[in-house]
Amino acid sequence: MSSETVMIICKLCKETKTFEKYNVARRNTTGRNTVCKACMKISNKKAYDANPEKEIARCLKYYNKNREARNLYADAQRELYPEAHAARAAAYYKGNRDACRESSAKYRRENRGVYTAHAAKRRARRFNATPEHTNELDTQITKILYVIARGLSKMNRIEYHVDHRKPLVKGGAHHWMNLQILTAEENLKKGAKYE
Ligand SMILES: [Zn+2]
Repeated sequence: MSSETVMIICKLCKETKTFEKYNVARRNTTGRNTVCKACMKISNKKAYDANPEKEIARCLKYYNKNREARNLYADAQRELYPEAHAARAAAYYKGNRDACRESSAKYRRENRGVYTAHAAKRRARRFNATPEHTNELDTQITKILYVIARGLSKMNRIEYHVDHRKPLVKGGAHHWMNLQILTAEENLKKGAKYE
């Protein structure tokens, strides 16, 4: 242990413990709670036993209040330590394979338009068909067309496609100005014409 380790006396049990035995509390000068984790655990348990509903409500309130901050923090950590994040995600996936598959399948079902947009972009890249001048707004508009096509398909119960007016194989651009929403039937007819 380093000689600079900060020691704190717990207000409840009066024991002197190293700072990491206390929860983080930025408002305090030590940056830690005045009551140690062990004591907190006991007093939280007591409060819970006395009134479980109240404690659950308190936790939920805390959770919701801090959700945004926590998500921001998680995003930052992911950006700072991509390898650690990937390793953790892989380990989590290994331990929860079925649940992970189920939730990503659900996400795909509910966001199919976004997925087809991504697939179209990958395909376009193979054809070198994304024009150089495409900016973030162009990319967003392109993506939205796929989401709209998916929404129309669901709403009208017939399949809609996002079509390249000038096909990628003919050197057409993967850009919203070269895209149109067609019914699958129209698209098929058009495809035949281009052969
Ligand atoms: Zn204590």
